[in-house]
Amino acid sequence: MSWERQINVKNPAELRIMREAGRINATVLAAVKERLQPGVTTADLNAAAEEVLKSFGCVSPFMNYGRPPFPASITVSINDEMVHGIPNPRRKLKEGDIVSIDCGTIYDGFVADSAFTAGVGEISPQATNLLEVTNGALYAGIEKMRKGNRTGDVSAAIQKHVEDRGLHVTREYTGHGVGRKMHEGPQVPNIGTAGTGLLLRPGLTIALEPMVLVGTHETRVLPDKWTVVSADGSLTAHFEHTVAVTEGEPLLLTVL
Ligand code: MG
Ligand code: MG
Repeated sequence: MSWERQINVKNPAELRIMREAGRINATVLAAVKERLQPGVTTADLNAAAEEVLKSFGCVSPFMNYGRPPFPASITVSINDEMVHGIPNPRRKLKEGDIVSIDCGTIYDGFVADSAFTAGVGEISPQATNLLEVTNGALYAGIEKMRKGNRTGDVSAAIQKHVEDRGLHVTREYTGHGVGRKMHEGPQVPNIGTAGTGLLLRPGLTIALEPMVLVGTHETRVLPDKWTVVSADGSLTAHFEHTVAVTEGEPLLLTVL
């Protein structure tokens, strides 16, 4: 069965474990964010993440994921690189770059998955706006993560937030259920139609992850077979949280 069809509702004990996984993941991301300075290499950022993961006795589900096996614990994607950039000891951050960091944490058999994009030093007004719109799209989606809504309500809210502001949202890369595996059902695209899709119920845990591009929704994959870039070279950003549906307010799992 493909991962999109494996939908696992979590019980309260499982949600408590996922909340702890999320707290650790947020600690990792905060440590990486502190190190975003000119001259730091993307491999340095991965090493910083691994040090924090190790201090909690945790590992990232990214390591050795997929084919070819992903060779690091975080992805680091700069400027036109949207997602899945491979940490590299020769790749240095520069003033004005925007850097997307995505990390997962496996804790007690459960996965948390979260990402942010931030600037190195001063960034352009275009980049600042892109970051605001992408983070805003994530929260527009989170707001719809309520019992009785459908996944299409979440997708449509993300798409509308981005397109109303004149930017583009990816068609191919989606949010996803998360639990014992990094990718479970349901798949939650960043575009969609309200009122369609899976009915949301308490205990569903979903990683929402809008990926936004300035010039086009089209992307391509670099010859390293991982790094996804905007087709036109324009700036991109990515924010992600793992969120649980409850009887009431949406519960963010990947915060401190
Ligand atoms: Mg992620
Ligand atoms: Mg994800």
